[in-house]
Amino acid sequence: MPDDLFAVSGQRLVASLDHSRIADETLVRLRRPVSSVEVSIPVRMDDGSLAVFPGFRVRHDSTRGPAKGGVRFSAGVSRREVADLAFRMTFKAALLDLPFGGAKGGVTVDPGQLSPGELERLSRGWVGALADLLGPDRDIPAPDVATNEQVMGWMSDEFDKIRRAHLPAAFTGKPIALGGVPGRSSATSDGAFHVIRELGDELIGKESERTVAIQGFGNAGSQLASRLHEAGWKVVAVSDSSAAVLDEQGLDIPALRRHKDESGALAGPPSGTQIEGDELLALDVDLLVPAALGGAINEGNARDVRARAIVEVANGPVTPEADEILDSRGVEVIPDILANAGGVTVSWFEWVQNRQGDRWTARKTARRLEKRMVRETRRVAELSSERGIPLRTAAWVLALDRLAEAMEATGTESLFRNGGDQP
Ligand code: NAD
Repeated sequence: MPDDLFAVSGQRLVASLDHSRIADETLVRLRRPVSSVEVSIPVRMDDGSLAVFPGFRVRHDSTRGPAKGGVRFSAGVSRREVADLAFRMTFKAALLDLPFGGAKGGVTVDPGQLSPGELERLSRGWVGALADLLGPDRDIPAPDVATNEQVMGWMSDEFDKIRRAHLPAAFTGKPIALGGVPGRSSATSDGAFHVIRELGDELIGKESERTVAIQGFGNAGSQLASRLHEAGWKVVAVSDSSAAVLDEQGLDIPALRRHKDESGALAGPPSGTQIEGDELLALDVDLLVPAALGGAINEGNARDVRARAIVEVANGPVTPEADEILDSRGVEVIPDILANAGGVTVSWFEWVQNRQGDRWTARKTARRLEKRMVRETRRVAELSSERGIPLRTAAWVLALDRLAEAMEATGTESLFRNGGDQP
């Protein structure tokens, strides 16, 4: 069984308990996931050999709706990591007031070592092993680290074959041809952009020239760099796993994105000079955006941070120990469950459209995303200033109160249901 979740993301929750009216029994219920499943996925490799990969799906909670959360393919995937991310998803969905609970899945594999055929067989194998637990009214996977719309296309197809039905709402983040929505791939960066615009004046004042450094130049980081660049921000530094680049006058983001698209990495950049990755985190900028890894800003480097505010686009990039240091130095942190919630919000739009057999325009999707992100960002900011608590605590309190209200409305018996609709 995975550990008590309070040992991991639960630290965030503990910080919000003083400000929440949650009942003790509800809290006890939230400490552990509803279900946590580990499977073995056999895959025929191209050379004819057989490999078996560990696969996971953790459903943390489904009180507010079917569980929702991505599937990641990474060598570091463990049941503990997946459980922690599922826990965060429950709170992220509640914070955005989406009719979903939280889940997460993964496979322990280095996807870079697999051929496209092996990747497809692994993706289909994950669905085959877990199909009984999935479905549009039960648990709906989406892309995450190293899984993309192609992977969702394979998974959705495999699920339809197993169920002998057309169930597009069982997966989100699909290719548009299979019911995916335009704008899904930029949803996370678009959502983060709306949050930054909404809170920018409060966090960093009304300076006309605003500077930002972004760690991680992948899907979320590079698209956010473009949006900020287009909105007049000076993007002074960006990094990926191959290099970090600095130009105090502002980087040429379109040129860097073209370079990365063509060469696959930032190394050898056409704009700026190369610096060390750690230097980027210590730059004197208005905004620092960690958009790569969990734990990037930690006890060891939090004192070096000179940014006025941090926006957590990655999941869990600031550790609880770093939070305390940053708080004491007046660095405000916009928490991940708000800053990167654009992806799950647009996934909700995809699920709604698939269930209704409808197709929205890209404009409608963008408008609804902006409206939802702005609304919940304002609520978090208001609660934060009303109670004099950090934005992170305010976000967890809002989510916790919504969850508690739903859990308590189901009655005490529901607290004793383990798995509820598990087969
Ligand atoms: P991605 O794989 O497209 O990009 C990750 C980037 O981080 C890559 O450019 C990689 O080179 C870089 N990187 C890795 N190690 C690094 C290091 N040590 N220093 C600097 N850069 C490094 O992933 P993504 O989809 O952009 O996701 C990034 C983060 O955002 C993850 O934590 C993910 O969980 C989170 N997130 C993404 C989404 C989404 O929809 N894409 C939604 C919610 C949360």
